[in-house]
Amino acid sequence: MAIERTLSIIKPDAVKKNVIGKILSRFEDAGLNISAMRFALLSKDDAAGFYAVHKTRPFFNDLVEFMTSGPVCIQVLEGEDAIKKNRELMGATDPKQADTGTIRADFAESIDANAVHGSDSAENAAIEIAYFFPSMNVYSK
Ligand code: ADP
Ligand code: MG
Repeated sequence: MAIERTLSIIKPDAVKKNVIGKILSRFEDAGLNISAMRFALLSKDDAAGFYAVHKTRPFFNDLVEFMTSGPVCIQVLEGEDAIKKNRELMGATDPKQADTGTIRADFAESIDANAVHGSDSAENAAIEIAYFFPSMNVYSK
């Protein structure tokens, strides 16, 4: 398996719940390294640019509203099979459908406020990491 990088965002609902540390522990316990991290209070343009692939979806405006409702904590995770591994740790988009023990099952309330974002492909991971982190701010172990 290849060493990959993926972009993770702890969304405003989880930051407000004070569970950043608990979520970061899930990544570390699964063997993923936190290779970069920052907080941000996204503007509407920041959030709309990040979620541009969803701009024609009916939930787009609500998604931008939610992602700008409070600070987010953004990480680059690195490790073997990091993109898929993070998606498994996150669980399904709708926390009601998420497997027991996943981040969304344990910390999310609804499909809107679902605790975390994770890149869904190598191509999108590269785009999303570059959106938030200059390469000099991402380290490899
Ligand atoms: P994921 O975050 O699991 O990759 P998507 O990329 O499909 O999910 O959607 C991006 C985000 O948009 C989701 O995490 C969720 O916050 C929101 N979202 C997706 N589908 C819906 C929906 N049907 N209603 C409301 N919000 C949604
Ligand atoms: Mg997605």
